[in-house]
Amino acid sequence: MRPEPFVVPGTPVPVPAADQPLPAPRIRVLLIEDDEDDYLITRDMLAEQDEGRFELDWRSDYDDALAAIRRQCHDVYLIDYRLGERTGLQLMREGFADRPSAPVIMLTGQATHEIDLEATALGATDFLVKQELAAAGLERSIRYAISHQTAERHALATRAANDGIWDWDLERDRIYFSPRWHAILGLTERARERRPSAWFDLVAPEDLPRLQEAIDAHLAGHTAHVECEHRLRHADGDWRWVTARGLVTRGVDGEPVRMAGSLSDMTDQRTAQLRLEHEALHDTLTGLPNRTLFMDRVEHLLRGASRDPAVGCAILFVDLDGFKQVNDQLSHAVGDRLLIAVAERLLTGLRPGDTVARLGGDEFTLLLDGIVAPAEAVEIADRLLRSLQQPFPVHGNELSIGASIGVALSQPALASADLLANADVAMYEAKARGRGCIAVFDEGMRLRVADRLARQDELGQILEESLLEIHFQPIVDLVSGRIRALEALARWPESHPPVLAPMQLIAIADETGLIGPLGKQMLSGALRALAGWRAQGVLAADVCVTVNLSARQLDDPLLTDHIGAALAAAGLPSAALKLEITEETMMELERSRRLTEICALGVGFQIDDFGTGHTSLAALHRLPVQALKVDRSFVATLLSGGEGEMMVRSTVALAHSLGLPVIAEGIETAATLQCLRELQCDQGQGTLISPALSPVDVPLIGSALGLAA
Ligand code: C2E
Ligand code: CA
Ligand code: CA
Repeated sequence: MRPEPFVVPGTPVPVPAADQPLPAPRIRVLLIEDDEDDYLITRDMLAEQDEGRFELDWRSDYDDALAAIRRQCHDVYLIDYRLGERTGLQLMREGFADRPSAPVIMLTGQATHEIDLEATALGATDFLVKQELAAAGLERSIRYAISHQTAERHALATRAANDGIWDWDLERDRIYFSPRWHAILGLTERARERRPSAWFDLVAPEDLPRLQEAIDAHLAGHTAHVECEHRLRHADGDWRWVTARGLVTRGVDGEPVRMAGSLSDMTDQRTAQLRLEHEALHDTLTGLPNRTLFMDRVEHLLRGASRDPAVGCAILFVDLDGFKQVNDQLSHAVGDRLLIAVAERLLTGLRPGDTVARLGGDEFTLLLDGIVAPAEAVEIADRLLRSLQQPFPVHGNELSIGASIGVALSQPALASADLLANADVAMYEAKARGRGCIAVFDEGMRLRVADRLARQDELGQILEESLLEIHFQPIVDLVSGRIRALEALARWPESHPPVLAPMQLIAIADETGLIGPLGKQMLSGALRALAGWRAQGVLAADVCVTVNLSARQLDDPLLTDHIGAALAAAGLPSAALKLEITEETMMELERSRRLTEICALGVGFQIDDFGTGHTSLAALHRLPVQALKVDRSFVATLLSGGEGEMMVRSTVALAHSLGLPVIAEGIETAATLQCLRELQCDQGQGTLISPALSPVDVPLIGSALGLAA
């Protein structure tokens, strides 16, 4: 008996279930056979098996057959090996440029392994010996070949042209390698070998046991087929990744007699896979390792460090100062270029063996190996900091940024994630100390951060339950003392001790995104309170409220709607509200669009903390700015002969030239008030005039405050 039809191993072949009738489209068979008797036998066999199922087209002449093959209008070819002077194999070579267009079953007078193998290599599906052939066997072979081909077509189409074929006669220990097999390894015709060692000698020594094992397991009947990815030495000396697949054929006694299969060149896939792996572990923008790879390296070092407690490692957590402004004000393209330049600069300052990674955004981390004392890490951090403070030439801009660096050192039994968290905490602390600072982690920091996290939770709760309090600080006319506005200031509720100072409250809200809900409550609460006082007649009808807006609030696309809704809910006109924004906020292009939107509601703006940032006159013209508020730091130094007086003077000059009033904040002494009046500052607020008042106290102050002359 012939072995099962050759199946490219590794692909399941759908065999129609026996109890199901075959769907029966007619099968067009091209029989190429120079012997008329044999033709008649074949015709009868097919008719006997399934009358009318097969459409038999018979060609006895070689050239005639070739022409028929080239028309490609048959479902299966039955080709006799002997075709007069020539052979079926020749016909296959000539008729099928690459692979047969339909399954080929080779017919022959006698079984020769050589012919079988060559037919297989040329893509024949089966090889039948005429004398042994019966009707059922022929029909089955055709049916099998067609269903097989359907399943395999896709796999073969992508693979066949590139796969090498091998066929190993286990009894004689000879192996046939197809030309493509040799080509994959860059071997020439002359190098053709028939000993199995021709293959195994080329296998990478590390991979050989795996291949051996895969083959042995299959021969022993433990696996359905052989499949093993391994490296082979190419003639050019490089390794090629290949996948060998194979299937054993057993004799009647069940002993393996032959094993055949394919060899696929996987080098390209491997390279693609390596590239994917690289991408999974690196930041695409800078090419630096990403968080995953960085943490992997940290873990690796920590394992080593645990062996010698005297030597450890350190993580530097670098966060750029002012990166966001660059990104927002210049463009993301400039931001990206800057990040790449920063990455390059960090790399140049690196010692061999250290790792720089980008965790995301403007956060970079460095892993320093062999650190014994904190001072060593700080020295490196200091050097990095100074190099980052040098301007970066990007797209014709000289960008000056800088960084804050947190330093954390490994400790015995400290997990990698905790070490990174410590460095993060230290960075946080460094930021809190101001720009360009380095902080080394200590336990106290963690407590402070934990404390902060707890306060964040509490603030969330306070906002959820609408417990936030609003205090109002009068802004008065510096000449008449008449109240012009009430500035709404957020206050942590007394009912939730410990009470957090307003500056910290706002800082936490800003960092966590809680500033959104906070701002909403401030707007609606302040307007509601004002409506109440107006209704009671305790305030003059033209007194408005001013509400502070953080930059982040302007990122909320719904902000305009909130403002409109808060005004409507309080039943107040838009002139009853003024918004205070800082110069930075006003200057950001994206945000100034939102500001224009809000202006369309009829709500005005005043510039808070004026003099501490950079304002362009164009922006002052573009927006309906209604007042400038001189920052209280200038008011505080007004009398000490510093820049305070100059700032107030020039702000007044600028504002008045634009027809705007100037408001001074932080007026604490009568002397300051007097000076401000002399400088023609229009309005002011401060503890001298009135501190921020709780809502119950507001009705008590009347419509004007007495000003010490
Ligand atoms: P700001 O907008 O500059 O508000 C004026 C600050 O000066 C208030 O501080 C006020 O209490 C304080 N102040 C008033 N008079 C004097 C004085 O005579 N001397 C001194 N030294 N300070 C005086 P406060 O209430 O601590 O608020 C701090 C900052 O928090 C505010 O500064 C404002 O930027 C922000 N803020 C307050 N409430 C809100 C809010 O609802 N939303 C937003 N986004 N920010 C708010
Ligand atoms: Ca303000
Ligand atoms: Ca201010």
